[in-house]
Amino acid sequence: MGAAEQHIKDAKLTKLKPESVSTSIPDYEVLIIGAGISGMAAAIELKRRGIESFQILERADDVGGTWRDNNYPGIAVDIMSFVYTYSFEQNPDWSRLYAPGAELKRYMRKVACKYGLYRSTRFGVVVNSAEFDESKSLWRVNTNQGFFTARHLTSAVGSLVEPKKPTIRGIDDFQGKCMHTARWDQDYDLTGKRVALIGTGATGVQVVPEIAEQVEHLDVYQRTPIWIIPKPDARTPFWLRTLFRLSGTAQKGMRLSTHALTELVMVVGVTYFKQMPWLVRMLENVCLKNLHKQLPEQPDLWKKLTPKYGFGCKRPTFSNEYFKTFSRDNVELVTDSIDCITASGIKTKDGKEREIDVLILATGFEVFGKKSFPTYPVLGRGGIDLREYWYTNRYQAFEGLTVPGYPNFYMFMGPYALTATSYFVMAEGNAVHMARCVEEARTRGAEVVEVKQEVHDRYFEEIQKRQQSTVFLNNNCGDSSSYYFDHHGDAPLARPSTSMEMLLRAKYLSMDNYRFIRGNR
Ligand SMILES: Cc1cc2nc3c(=O)[nH]c(=O)nc-3n(C[C@H](O)[C@H](O)[C@H](O)COP(=O)(O)OP(=O)(O)OC[C@H]3O[C@@H](n4cnc5c(N)ncnc54)[C@H](O)[C@@H]3O)c2cc1C
Repeated sequence: MGAAEQHIKDAKLTKLKPESVSTSIPDYEVLIIGAGISGMAAAIELKRRGIESFQILERADDVGGTWRDNNYPGIAVDIMSFVYTYSFEQNPDWSRLYAPGAELKRYMRKVACKYGLYRSTRFGVVVNSAEFDESKSLWRVNTNQGFFTARHLTSAVGSLVEPKKPTIRGIDDFQGKCMHTARWDQDYDLTGKRVALIGTGATGVQVVPEIAEQVEHLDVYQRTPIWIIPKPDARTPFWLRTLFRLSGTAQKGMRLSTHALTELVMVVGVTYFKQMPWLVRMLENVCLKNLHKQLPEQPDLWKKLTPKYGFGCKRPTFSNEYFKTFSRDNVELVTDSIDCITASGIKTKDGKEREIDVLILATGFEVFGKKSFPTYPVLGRGGIDLREYWYTNRYQAFEGLTVPGYPNFYMFMGPYALTATSYFVMAEGNAVHMARCVEEARTRGAEVVEVKQEVHDRYFEEIQKRQQSTVFLNNNCGDSSSYYFDHHGDAPLARPSTSMEMLLRAKYLSMDNYRFIRGNR
């Protein structure tokens, strides 16, 4: 039994005993919900500052979040592995420049073991709601295993976590095998099956080339094409892994240079589109060349696979294989709109029905929604649900983390939080910002920490101003069907700044942006 398995077994044997809900002394100083990249970053940062009274609540039975739940064929990171890691826990052993998902899962477990996080995590605890008790200045968290209370609540439940089922007529009538990529059935054998895959985002692009050889026939249903950059992937050579093992400095150097490159491709061009549109145009050209090179002399397919929206409106991805797959005899790209799903196939609006055995939904996740952002109701001052508040009043949060009216509450991956360089960078920045608030509350003997309304409003105004320069408002995003956008027409997923700025602000922004209150007023 490995170290992670032993820790999970021990954690299950520990009896849950939530404290009385009436006391004004909370069970924990900090509760963290979710044990993915964000929750683990939060816990490690608290430990680093000597704050040990915290608990992680995780609904599943292991750490890892995304990398625990997504096991579809071909899953791999699409940001270079040297930068898709915690900065303080680099890994010399990635087998490829873009590591496969299974390695990420192992990495997350290893980090959790090293920092003793299994001991601080309750698995199988589903958070149903959280409510701020104004009279006692604490959060009361309602779970499937009773109530927990904490002075501070960190929500690290991710945003790509609730699989999205498309609302296609007849989808529930399908009698064959149906699976969402985020709930892949490892035991199901696709060999010789007639398969339809709906969805051509980053996940679909990874699955399609992986299964095409194995299945009898594959229909790929595309609503919106995706921009695809060639993937500079390769096995990590032995000498490089040895060098990394021997020299932390070499590894840091590699991380820094890949970070700079990723920042240029994924962040700078998108955020400062108005100032330097040439960068995005250059990337669009690179993507088009990638398409033409993989499918030489097939202009009919070029037309179908070229996005009508600009680069950056929707998450672009990397692949050297995806386009090529459409030159196979057993693969068809279907661009006619789907009319309905029948018991045995899919009917398109042109009247054609294609029979299938298996339906794969590569349709992503519920991102901005009343039930998904976050995954449970969060009732702040006056009992107002944050999800409802955001849904009605636009998504907004100071530094993507804190909201007036929701004291002692920190939402990782909040509105405008993510810099697209690497998720780890955002998680580390948020962890520092959150831990500074908790630490400062300790120092000042305060029970309540709340971002000042005027600070938040100024920040939101500044974000709106910066949005004016991004691709989202200037690069013909209307046709992109992108999860970056919400129903208000805002694009609150990505932060309009570089990750360097985000990290510096997390570390050094003045704590005077917050009100610290002793007692409950
Ligand atoms: C397939 C896939 C590939 C990706 N690849 C990349 C990439 O290459 N580069 C990149 O920068 N980003 C990538 N992302 C985006 C992002 O990096 C990952 O989703 C990241 O793992 C998110 O980390 P997280 O900790 O915030 O959330 P998650 O990993 O989603 O973890 C959230 C945790 O919260 C738990 N939880 C949720 N609700 C509750 C509840 N009510 N009660 C208790 N527990 C709850 C979940 O079980 C989960 O363990 C990818 C996302 C996906 C889905």
